[in-house]
Amino acid sequence: MLETVGDSLDPEDWPAFRVQAHRMLDDILDYTQHLHARPVWQPLPDDLKAKLQQPLSEKTLEQAHREFMNDILPYAVGNAHPRFSGWVHGGGTPVGMLAEMLAAGLNANLGGRSQAPVDIERQVMRWVRDVFGFPDTASGLFVTGTSMANFVGCLCAKTRTLGVTTRQTGLPHAPSLMAYTSTAAHISIAQALDISGIGTNALRKIPVNDQYEMTVADLERAIATDKAAGHRPFLVVATIGTVDVGAIDPIEAIADVCQKEGIWLHIDGAFGALAMLAPSLAPRLKGIERADSIAFDFHKWGQVPYDAGFILVRDGALHQQAFASPAAYLQRCERGLSANSPWACDFGLDLSRGFRALKTWFTLSVYGNEKLGRVIAHTCHLAQYLKQQIENTPQLERLAPVALNIVCFRYTCADVDLNWLNTQLVIALQESGEVAPSSTILHGRVAIRAAIVNHRTTHHDIDTLLACTLKWGAVLTSS
Ligand SMILES: *Cc1c(COP(=O)(O)O)cnc(C)c1O
Repeated sequence: MLETVGDSLDPEDWPAFRVQAHRMLDDILDYTQHLHARPVWQPLPDDLKAKLQQPLSEKTLEQAHREFMNDILPYAVGNAHPRFSGWVHGGGTPVGMLAEMLAAGLNANLGGRSQAPVDIERQVMRWVRDVFGFPDTASGLFVTGTSMANFVGCLCAKTRTLGVTTRQTGLPHAPSLMAYTSTAAHISIAQALDISGIGTNALRKIPVNDQYEMTVADLERAIATDKAAGHRPFLVVATIGTVDVGAIDPIEAIADVCQKEGIWLHIDGAFGALAMLAPSLAPRLKGIERADSIAFDFHKWGQVPYDAGFILVRDGALHQQAFASPAAYLQRCERGLSANSPWACDFGLDLSRGFRALKTWFTLSVYGNEKLGRVIAHTCHLAQYLKQQIENTPQLERLAPVALNIVCFRYTCADVDLNWLNTQLVIALQESGEVAPSSTILHGRVAIRAAIVNHRTTHHDIDTLLACTLKWGAVLTSS
């Protein structure tokens, strides 16, 4: 069969393609530069929703880009926006965006092999190791996010406790493994136990104190009770930056318990672990260097574009034993493309993997740890400012302590159901396009929850959040 030039997917007309490519770059840079003037969020209109359900139709690159600009870009969640404060979403950066483009251009597969991208991932891992004070024997891996990183940590803990033969034999009937985390822990901890076959019944939810931190006395009691019942405690998951209020579990005391009992200490530091980069916050994470594994995200406080989760494991050899699989076609050699072992695929579930390390490498290199740390400290400073303003405003009530960058509060009014009011208020704020906090429930009370993660957020944006809350609160209670 004769090959025709047009059968390749590369452009037929490179000069024209370049013009279009530069237009696309300019458009997304314009979007980023002028974000503050756009609505934070707006719902997808019905006619567009219908349009997006149509079957595949071929278009030119120019047409596809126009559709992206008109139909997709305006209707995203808006977490790049300085007045977005919902959940815990990172803001992203233009540097990270460009690095992601370069990574896609290179189209590297980070499963392994002898290639510089693999060594870049290892370099980032060594930087991470230094940040957390982990030894040279520690291993690390980019994963999708902390949910996956928590799962990897759980499997490492299981493998250390039961021995590597558990990979063949599965779980013993007895004694049953037991894991511990606080009632404020993220749902992905329970999921990790579920998916690893240990089961969520093996997860003890330890009560928290009035600061939403795990109570260590209750942890010790639960472990003693389980041991007395013939169970086998194997894992404690402590959280740095709980998802509802941003609390930090007492890591040092929990590490003492784990050391004494020989239990694996995993830290869910999804957003909070990177507080290590801020000299004013790092001392509050003391004890993190004693963990067996740490899960965190570069895509939250680290501002790296989605997705860029990370798992760090103190015992790199054990980490490898928990995942590596022999496969003839993945055989390693001393030289050639199959050198450079061990590979990333020996430390996790994925074989084919994108080059997440590159956007992180660019972000850390171009901004530096110090500046990223300043951004993190600034978001905490803004949270304290918001807390102060709430306390100075009679219509507003703070509902939780502010340990890091998350503020939970509500609008109060004598004659209405406050849970109804604040649920409606958060929806009104989001639909206004002016600001976008989310909500949570604390001790049965619906809270407006502002998580300040974005490096673009300023005092002015916090003032806007307050003004909009008062405005919509008054509207909703006026009828
Ligand atoms: C965000 C978050 C997670 C989940 O991380 P993903 O990156 O979304 O998978 C887990 N734990 C905590 C405390 C979080 O804030």
